[in-house]
Amino acid sequence: MKRIDKVYTNGAFISPKGTMVFDLINPTNRQKIGEVVLGDETDTQEAIATAKEAFKSFSKSSIETRIELLERLKAAVHKREKELIEVMILEYGGTRQFCTTSIHYAISSFSNMIEVLRGYDFNRIAGKTQVQMTPVGVVGIITPWNASNSFICNKLATAIAAGCTVVVKPSEMSALQTQLLTECIHEAGLPKGVYNMVNGLGNVVGAAITSHPDIAKISFTGSTLTGKLIAKGAVDTVKRVTLELGGKSPNIILDDADLEQVIPQAVFGAYMNSGQACVAPTRLLVPKTKLEAVNRIAKAAVATVQVGNPENETTHVGPMVSEKQFERVQHYIQTGIEEGASLLAGGLGNPEGLENGNFVKATIFTNVHNDMRIAREEIFGPVLSIIPYEDDEDAIAIANDTTYGLAAYISTADENRALKMATQLEAGRININGLKHDPLAPFGGFKQSGLGREYGSFGLDEYLEPKAILI
Ligand code: NAD
Repeated sequence: MKRIDKVYTNGAFISPKGTMVFDLINPTNRQKIGEVVLGDETDTQEAIATAKEAFKSFSKSSIETRIELLERLKAAVHKREKELIEVMILEYGGTRQFCTTSIHYAISSFSNMIEVLRGYDFNRIAGKTQVQMTPVGVVGIITPWNASNSFICNKLATAIAAGCTVVVKPSEMSALQTQLLTECIHEAGLPKGVYNMVNGLGNVVGAAITSHPDIAKISFTGSTLTGKLIAKGAVDTVKRVTLELGGKSPNIILDDADLEQVIPQAVFGAYMNSGQACVAPTRLLVPKTKLEAVNRIAKAAVATVQVGNPENETTHVGPMVSEKQFERVQHYIQTGIEEGASLLAGGLGNPEGLENGNFVKATIFTNVHNDMRIAREEIFGPVLSIIPYEDDEDAIAIANDTTYGLAAYISTADENRALKMATQLEAGRININGLKHDPLAPFGGFKQSGLGREYGSFGLDEYLEPKAILI
């Protein structure tokens, strides 16, 4: 049983002023594995004051210094990679495959940012004017429970590259992972006050960061609902806000695609991170004439999806992070049934033998209409909706008929056809023939999937203010 009873401010672990205690529950068996003493507004204010003080000198640090710090961070996190993976599986219930990839991304955030920094132009000319790219100030980093440390590392790496200092508020459900990561960061020996971390509730610590006048920018990853609250809370102090929000990404299977190959990929893709992934391709758009074949192949594929203990190498779907999330997914499955979608696989309740954890059956609905709630709302669980379309134009219309716009996927034998279609899709990231990841490409959403971009030089731009100097 672990008790996390420290926040991290000014280069040291200190006891929070807050006294509220939050239980940490293992999603695999619903047993308590620890507790965290949550910080409050006073802890948040102290962390912000420290970050503000540290910004005075850190904002003037050289690029060489920042590169050295990023290298030290990378080494420190890498050193405890195995522990980070284990604690993520334990606390979050992410599968071993997913947690390993996620921590790998966390570590590579630092080297990716070093690469960006080496080629980044902080002093530019626009017209006849000098433009200096200057660090925006203290950044508030607010993160969700899925892939928590990967988000924190990417945002921290970008802030360091820019010369910003940070106050991190992780999800209260990620306290064990954040504690371990913070120990790594402490080990790396950043200048005091550059990295600060306060555990706490969203409406307490998160809200205090959002409204504080000394926070210049918020970098948020989480739900669209919370993103809207943050945007509203940031308005009075005119903060810069980067929002990485939810998604309901279409996966368009064109009529020339090899169904035997792409449909199993589509099923497994929708269940990435047990369905708790913002970019999961959860709407499978298939030609109406091929619906029967798609149903047959999808049904066979879902039978091979291993749902179970996330510690096993071969498990593809682990438990939902919390009982609340489990109930939410059950509610959506019930909604799909009531809306008249055909249940092809899975359904309500726990899979057999997994009654003690937050496990959901790998579920597929077919004959789904895009106006059904299961096609419009982010479920964040292993639930795939198969939606038939008439022709390419109809596929594009259905794909874009959503308030979200995070990712889109196209499978085809003809890449040129897909490239043409990509120009018409409203999404920040479009994957042609498979799921790709390029850490230097911009990542972010169209429409209500977000505001601004992360990763690579586009991500760094967001932590900098252009200052035009006219002589
Ligand atoms: P959430 O919005 O409930 O919480 C995210 C964070 O915001 C948590 O730290 C929470 O404590 C905090 N928060 C809550 N209320 C707040 C408030 N009023 N003010 C300030 N902070 C507040 O999200 P979640 O349930 O933790 O994560 C799942 C969501 O995250 C999904 O919608 C998913 O799509 C999204 N997500 C998006 C991306 C992306 O890159 N676009 C990546 C991962 C997850």
